[in-house]
Order: sequence, then structure tokens, then C-alpha cells
Amino acid sequence: MTWVYPFNTDEPVDRDILGGKGAGLVEMRRAGFPVPPGFVISTSACLAYTAAHGVAPEELWDEVAVGIASLESVTGKTFGGATDPLLLSVRSGAAVSMPGMMDTVLNLGLNDTTVEALAKQTGDSDFAWQSYRRFVHMFGEIVFRVPSERLSAAVATAHGSAEPDAASDQVATARLKMIIEGHASRPVPQDPVEQLHLAIAAVFDSWDGRRAVDYRRVHGISDALGTAVSVQTMVFGNSGKGSGTGVAFTRDPGTGERKMYGEYLDNAQGEDVVAGIRTPLSLDVMATEMPDVHQQLLDISGRLESHYRDMQDIEFTVERGKLWMLQTRSGKRSARAAIRIAVELFDEKIISREEAVLRVTPDRLEELLHPVVHASTDDVVLARGLAASPGGASGVVVFDADEAVELAEEGKKVVLVRHETSPDDFHGMVAAQAIVTTRGGVTSHAAVVARGMGKSCVVGCEDIEVDYAEQLFHTPKAEITKGDWVTVDGTTGAVYLGEVETVSPELDDNYSTLMGWADEFRELAVRANADTPVDAARARELGAEGIGLCRSEHMFFGDDRTAAMREMIMAPNAIARADALTQLAPLQAKDYAGIFEAMDGFPVTVRLLDPPLHEFLPDRHETIMEITNLKLRLRKASSLEAINTLLGRINELETVLDRIERLSEANPMLGHRGCRLGIAYPEITEMQARAIFTAAVQCADKGIAVFPEVMVPLVAFESEFVSQSALVRETAEKVFAELGASVDYAVGTMIELPRAALVAGRIAEHAEFFSFGTNDLTQSTVGLSRDDAGRFLPGYIRRGLIDADPFRSIDREGVGELVSIGVERGRKTKPDLKIGVCGEHGGDPSSVAFFHEIGLDYVSSSPFRVPIARLAAAHVSLQSRTSSDA
Ligand code: PEP
Ligand code: MG
Repeated sequence: MTWVYPFNTDEPVDRDILGGKGAGLVEMRRAGFPVPPGFVISTSACLAYTAAHGVAPEELWDEVAVGIASLESVTGKTFGGATDPLLLSVRSGAAVSMPGMMDTVLNLGLNDTTVEALAKQTGDSDFAWQSYRRFVHMFGEIVFRVPSERLSAAVATAHGSAEPDAASDQVATARLKMIIEGHASRPVPQDPVEQLHLAIAAVFDSWDGRRAVDYRRVHGISDALGTAVSVQTMVFGNSGKGSGTGVAFTRDPGTGERKMYGEYLDNAQGEDVVAGIRTPLSLDVMATEMPDVHQQLLDISGRLESHYRDMQDIEFTVERGKLWMLQTRSGKRSARAAIRIAVELFDEKIISREEAVLRVTPDRLEELLHPVVHASTDDVVLARGLAASPGGASGVVVFDADEAVELAEEGKKVVLVRHETSPDDFHGMVAAQAIVTTRGGVTSHAAVVARGMGKSCVVGCEDIEVDYAEQLFHTPKAEITKGDWVTVDGTTGAVYLGEVETVSPELDDNYSTLMGWADEFRELAVRANADTPVDAARARELGAEGIGLCRSEHMFFGDDRTAAMREMIMAPNAIARADALTQLAPLQAKDYAGIFEAMDGFPVTVRLLDPPLHEFLPDRHETIMEITNLKLRLRKASSLEAINTLLGRINELETVLDRIERLSEANPMLGHRGCRLGIAYPEITEMQARAIFTAAVQCADKGIAVFPEVMVPLVAFESEFVSQSALVRETAEKVFAELGASVDYAVGTMIELPRAALVAGRIAEHAEFFSFGTNDLTQSTVGLSRDDAGRFLPGYIRRGLIDADPFRSIDREGVGELVSIGVERGRKTKPDLKIGVCGEHGGDPSSVAFFHEIGLDYVSSSPFRVPIARLAAAHVSLQSRTSSDA
């Protein structure tokens, strides 16, 4: 087993073994860039060390000794030498970049003797003692874990207010040594080999340090990678005039502009840039002060880009006029820059269009589609919940939907805060800039509705305790009263105190170019879930090729509609019910017509009514309160007229309460909803079918290309679908006969219950299409309530019990398996059965990849996730092409 690889190794470069930084150094050296000589200790050595509970493999130290001997011979310096000492840096570097998460020791090899040698050799004892003091400080902190503040305080006292010099650094070094020895019960070793072994072990240990472990959890990085360690000859950016250190990006990481971008600090070591003690200068200043070095940096930057075929983030040091490269890696960039760089690298013939598309991570598009919160460390996070609908927005807190509307009408920006939302709050959600709920998960009512509207929303915010009576909420950080400003970041799930800066999104030509390419490569069609003509038009602008789910019940909201709906629910008999429905039909037809028009030329899937009827009635608690108040007033009423009015109203409300109680269910999510409603009240299905087909015929008359697809929700039994689809078809024929014209249409079903997935083969005998409702399918397969799981699921993820929220990203093994079974059985009966998905997973990149793999025809997502789904679909097509080529 080889543990150590010199930078000039002939071995193939393997990032998994050498880590990102080590691989970069080897590659740069191989390509002839000026890299200080060194060697890399492999990630396997770290893993062996960790497995042996902190004991390095014996041969490691022999191989390190060989590495040092070879550095001595290349540089002509001696490790621990009394005249020309070899000094080293020891840095961590895993295969995946984890910036700042692990440790580094610089200036290693300095001791009481070599410091004098360095002073003599450079003629600069200030520099030599500064370097030694820094080494002792870092060694104490990293190897012996002495709290950095104690060490910094000792240095500050030794330096006093004067500029540090050799004398004060000598005092500082002596104090540091004392503190470290006191803390560790052993001195900082004078022997450079011992220094090196301890530093390497400390870097290995930092792989399992708290910071690194937390970072890996958050970014989903495996613990099994380990870190490599690069040991490199020191070059000193702090060796006086003509020296310095800096960081450069080969293109602007914010805008993507093709212009070197970065900062530079003269006469300094890398850690000074990080510590922010002095403000770095822009590279333009370096261009005037060190034109030759700047020009070299520009040349190298261009060569590095062509070599790596991507924008690079470079660390460099200038030692007395000589430029050295210390690191190169693919540079982090904003979403806008990522798109511009990808498109321009194609224009410059560096990468192909396929590569350009693969260079942009689909989720990053969110930054372009929603305002981004630019919070600083001073901004107070009041609470954190589940990031349910992305984007940032600020407003004054209100707790009531009507009040949200009133204030919005006065031109105020509001944030609606509720325990949870229901259809009754819909108007308030429309009026609000953002919505926060203390309960619920990412497919709860608030989350689904907010996402559909592209509004910022945080749900399941358990840290917030709402007191509706007092019109305030408490969090561990503050008490917020109605009218106070807050900012909601639906991208991260944070709720901030006050108005935090947000930056508006912009879509430019580069975006359109890249998305055009993505559309050419993808095989999955992408539709949108939209319930209004405005949302449908927006979805189309964002590239939707039809509506995959129009949740009809969202059209029953609004004062006149809710009233008609209530009348229908309260109707004492079928005739009265039919009357109420007749009022609703034209209103629904108008909505459908608007959607067909916005989606001219594309299919529109309209789902029949889904939620339980009691949701359209007033709140039970509020109704009881109102009855109680009226009864109190009745006791005091004196005039006969007042008594009669009050009695009339009480009577009315008691009937409503009775109906609420009769319709209320212990578990409405598993109760009388979906097609079960249409079966109990066929007149609702009939009214909806009538509205759909009337609108379709009227639109077709106007020259609009319509293709309605009527979808039956929550089917468990084949017979449910047979009965509902027959009713839809009969109604279609009636409407066509009445209007003397017809349109093509299809009747299909949602597959959103495990039983439906299992009997899909039989359902497919009658259905013309399937659409998987993976929200309900997840709820019913995993046995997790969509509305309550938000309370404990984040804990599952934190404890590592599950990797991701199954309501956000499809649970491939469980729910995914049922979807696969449904597809397989459905297509066995009807090979050309059109199949899509319309649960929230339709806009999640990893789920989109899964749906491609199992052969779905389309995914449907909320309008603002349509671009993400388009790009994700292109990624999976391109990736499966490459894997089938291989
Ligand atoms: C689903 O269950 O996945 C679905 C799309 O329907 P809804 O979210 O309206 O229940
Ligand atoms: Mg559903």
C-alpha cells in the first residue's frame, strides 16, 4: 500500500485518493505551473488512522521520511537545518471541497535554532520571528487544542500597541510556549519530524472534528471519504516588499463576466486574508504595482481554465517577485454566473452544449426565479421551520386572512402567520407577501398553495408560539406583535426580525439559451400544476407544456363561490342541491375557459373536486362562539324584533353547526374526499364535467386548441373509477349534443393510494391516462400525515434515520416502488398508457431523475419549479446517455 504521493508522481490523478487540493497540486505541477514542491498523504492513510483509533500505519512515517528527503534534495534545504532550513505547510483536503472545515499548520520546521537561521538567511529577523510565533500559535491551537482566544490574548499583550517586531514576537513566542505547555502538559516539540507527525495526525483528527462532521451532515457528504494531507515547501508572502498573497477567480463569480477577479494582500500570509485584519486590495492595484507578476497570473489563469475547462478559484503567493500557485479548484459561483459561464465556455469552444447544460445544477435556478434574502450576521433569526416555498419577502405580521387583505388594500406589505392555513385563509394568502405556519409539512395546505403562487412560505415553525387572542407570537428570541416587520426566507426556512434586504430575480438571454438547449436534450415532458388563468399563463412563460393538475377545489374559493358551495352542502334535498350547483357551473366554466385559453395548444388536466366538504363550512369553534355570543345578547334583548332576528340567526347557525358536526371526520385526509364525494354526490361531478366541456367547446369555437383531460382523484377501487368516468362521459355527450359541437378529451385517474397502484392493471382497462399523486401516495404508503409529519420529520433527518423528507424527494424504495409497480401493471394492460406525476415531487430534481428512469411521459410541478424540472429532466437524459455509451 502506498500512502504518500509526491507532487511529481507518474500515477494517474485520483481525487478520491489525493483529495481535491492534492489532485489540483499534482495536476498543476504536471502541467508545468509554478507549484512549490511537496507530497500528498492519501485519504486511505486518514481512514486507516481513524480505523485504528488514532494510530497511523507504521509504513506511513517511513514514506513521509522518503518524501522529506526528496524535498531536501530538490530544494537544497535541510529539514531542521541550522543554515538553510526546509519549512513546510501541512494542509487538509478531502475529495469534496469543505472550505475552512479542517485544519492547516504553516511554517512547520521552525524551532529555536532554525528561526535564527531564517533570520540570518533573509536578513530579516522581524519576519523570522513573526513566522515562528505564527507557527507556535497554530501548532498550539490545532495540535494541542488550546483555545485560540487564549493564545491571541497572549500575543496581543506581548505586542502592546507598537508594531510587532522581532523582540515583541520573541516575547510572544515564549508566552505562547508556556501557555501551550501548561495546557497540554508537554512542550511544543523542537524536533521538526515530531512536529510533522503531530501536525499530520491533527489534520487527520480534524476530519472527525465537530465543524467537519456538521458540514458533512448539512451537505450530504459521506463520512467514509477521509481527508488527504498535502505537505508542501513553504513560500512566504510575508517576506517583505514584492511579496504577498491572494485569491483569484478566473471569471467574476457573481456575474460570470470573463475577467479575472480577486484580492491581494501585500507582505502577508494566506491566513491574514482569511482573518480580515487588513483589507485586501483589488487585483487591479496589483496590476499597477507588480505588472509582471500580474501578467503572469493572467496567463496562468487562462491556461488553468483551458486545462480544467471551467472557471477556477486560485490561491497564489508571491515571494520576493516570484509567483507560486498554491491551489486551484473549480470556483463557487452565483446561479447567474453559473449559467453565463456555461454558455460562454460553449461559445469559446471549450465545452459542448451537453456539458454546458450539465454544468448548472437544477436547484440553483431557484435563485433566479425568486427574490434572494441577503442576510448579514447581525440579522436576528427569530425561528426556523421547513423551507416550503422559496424566495424572500418582508412585511408586517398579521394573524388573520381578512386583515391581511385589508392592509394589503391600503398598500401595506403583510406576512400572514397562522398555526396552519385552510381554504378559508386563501384570500389572505393571496394578499400576503409571505406565509408562516407553526405546524404542517412541505405538502400541507399552506405549502402547496404558496408554491403554486410562487410566494415565500415557511411551515412547521415550531419555535413560534402564536397567541391569536393577544395578536402576538413568541419565539425564544423575541416577542412579535401584530404590525411588527419580519422577513421570511422560504429558501432556507428562516424567519428574520425586521426588514432584511432582498434582491430581485432576473432572467437574461443566457438563461434562455441554456434552457433552450436543455429542452432539446430532455425526454420527459414538463407540465405545471396551476388552478387559475394567471398561474397557467405564468407557467407557460416558464416553459410548461400543459397543465398536469388543475385542483378544481381552489376555484370554489371566493365569497360568491363559497356561498354557493355552502348552499349546496346545506341543501335539504337533491333539488335544492341541484339549484346551488347550477349557480356554480357558469363560474367554473369561466375559470376553465381562462385556463384553456392560457394553455392554447396544450393539454389541460382538470381534477374533479377533492377535499372533504366540511372544509367549505365555517370553522366549528368560531360557529360555537358566535352562537354563544348571540345567546348572551338574546338574554338582554328587549324588543320583539331584536329577539326574532337573534333567534333566526341562532337557528341558522345551529343548523350549520349540526352539518359541520355531521360532516366532521376524525381523519379527513383519509375520509370522505376525492372520488368518494363524487360517488355520494354525483351531481357535483356532473356539474364539473358540464363546466369543463362547455368551456372546452366554447374555446374551440373561438379557435383555441383545447384538449381537456378529466381526472378522477383518490381512486382505490376500480369500480369507483368506472362509475365516475361513466358519469363524466355521459355528461360530455349531453353537453356536446346541447351545443352541437364536440372536442376530443380523455378521462383518467390519479394513482395516489397504494391499492390503486397495485390494481393499476385493472384500472388501466378503463382509464386513458394515469397521474401519480405522490403527495397522498407518500402519506398513505409511509403512514405519515401530510399535515402533522412536519413536527417530527426534521428530527428524523437530523438524527440520520432518513436522508430526506419523503414529501420533498421521492422515497425510491417504498413509494417509488409502488409507482414502478403502477407503471408496469398499467402499461401491461395498455402499452401506450400516458403516465405522469403531479405530486410535489414533480419539481424535485432527484425525483424527476427517478420518474425518467421508470419511463413516465411527463412530470407536473408548481409553475416556479417548471424550469427546475426542465433542467433536471435534461440532466437525467444526458446522464443516462453517457452511462449507456460507457
Ligand atoms: C397528490 O396527492 O400528490 C396530489 C397531487 O394531490 P393533492 O396534493 O391535491 O392531494
Ligand atoms: Mg392527492
